[in-house]
Amino acid sequence: MKITIVGTGYVGLVSGACLSDFGHQVVCVDKNLERIQDLKKGIIPIYEPGLDILVKKNVKSRRLTFTDNIDDSLRSSEVVFIAVGTPSRRGEGGADLSYVHEAAQEIAKMSDNYILFVTKSTVPVGSNRDLIKVIEKANPELKFDVASNPEFLREGSAIDDFMRPDRVVVGVESERAKELMLEVYKPLYLRDFPIMFTSLESAETIKYASNAFLATKITFINEIAQLCENSGADIKEVSKGMGLDERIGNKFLHAGPGYGGSCFPKDVKAFISTAEKNNVNLSIISAVDKFNDERVERITSKIIAKSNLQKEDTVSLLGLSFKPNTDDIRDSTSLKIAKLLINKGIRIKSYDPVSMEIAKSENTELILCNNAYEACEDAKAIIIGTEWNEFRALDFLKIKKHATNLVIFDLRNIYKAKDLKDLGFEYFGTGK
Ligand code: NAD
Repeated sequence: MKITIVGTGYVGLVSGACLSDFGHQVVCVDKNLERIQDLKKGIIPIYEPGLDILVKKNVKSRRLTFTDNIDDSLRSSEVVFIAVGTPSRRGEGGADLSYVHEAAQEIAKMSDNYILFVTKSTVPVGSNRDLIKVIEKANPELKFDVASNPEFLREGSAIDDFMRPDRVVVGVESERAKELMLEVYKPLYLRDFPIMFTSLESAETIKYASNAFLATKITFINEIAQLCENSGADIKEVSKGMGLDERIGNKFLHAGPGYGGSCFPKDVKAFISTAEKNNVNLSIISAVDKFNDERVERITSKIIAKSNLQKEDTVSLLGLSFKPNTDDIRDSTSLKIAKLLINKGIRIKSYDPVSMEIAKSENTELILCNNAYEACEDAKAIIIGTEWNEFRALDFLKIKKHATNLVIFDLRNIYKAKDLKDLGFEYFGTGK
């Protein structure tokens, strides 16, 4: 089957690599020429474990190609995925659909034959129905269908999530679209992964409700962590005890600095905004959004107070990406904390295994170091912001020799308080 994917970012590239590995002929399109030129040279623009090998394999077998010219690929593709960004609109939380509309218009104008437009971008309920009107207007002669196929992959384990999904959700309205989507996902369907067909509106809502639920679970445990800090309970024990209840489950129940990344913050806000347009107040999710926004400031104030930070003091920040195994820094809590500290005149020496250059382009005042130990030299406080594996077994005796003060803020609870206290450090975990 011939497939075109418009938007070769995180979702588009992973989808393209996986669908070509299923045996389909895939063309990935992006208007970012530099990105396409890099991909043609074998340079992968994002850090995602296993992605380079999968791309290389499928490029070699000629099932996966890249272009900045959408026209080239459309001639033979019946199925076109739209995987462009849907960021928050400035000044309000709603999703900006301009990239999706622009991509759909371009495809529509260049097509003569039937096209199935598959929206993989995360779009609010009602968007795919609006997209039908956008396409009709761009090319009134075109025969087409629209399918809503939200993506649930997690950065850091994206390939596994795509290849072994908990479910594939597809909103469709015609038998032809359903048949084509079954063909796209045939390798998953044959291996009994659940493929669920719904209305366009249900598929759109499943995506936002799922992300909002997970954000709520994280926020719930973070709020309980605050209670633990004031009451003497230990959030790790509380999480474990709760998670053993099968009705609750242990996933997304780890206290930390709050959720970040390219999806949860913007999707939670967009969900609230969509509900408002439908005259519904999502009160629980609004509370989640507010709590999460305020959490970074609360944590930063705690860091300043507990280590008595003054202007021109140096702080070490370990981890910049929003979670381990990705170089994605979008809405990273580490970077938000860094910005608040820098605004107070504090110097931030930081180290991250993969996302330093990209973080530096966001915040030029970050002092980048070659490793965790260099970042900890002369630091008055050490913040563990992302739980990369290489931060789990640091040599604290080595760190102790060069630190000016011995205060550690373990925002991800990867160490035992007693172990660090025995070494002479003052230790602050989250929710302990
Ligand atoms: P991204 O920013 O990494 O990639 C988007 C790409 O689209 C960019 O490379 C951009 O140049 C390209 N683009 C924009 N307009 C274009 C056009 N008209 N023609 C060709 N290319 C165009 O975004 P992403 O993280 O891959 O997210 C894409 C969508 O998937 C979003 O709606 C997001 O919410 C959703 N999503 C993301 C994830 C994730 O983990 N990143 C997971 C699930 C869903």
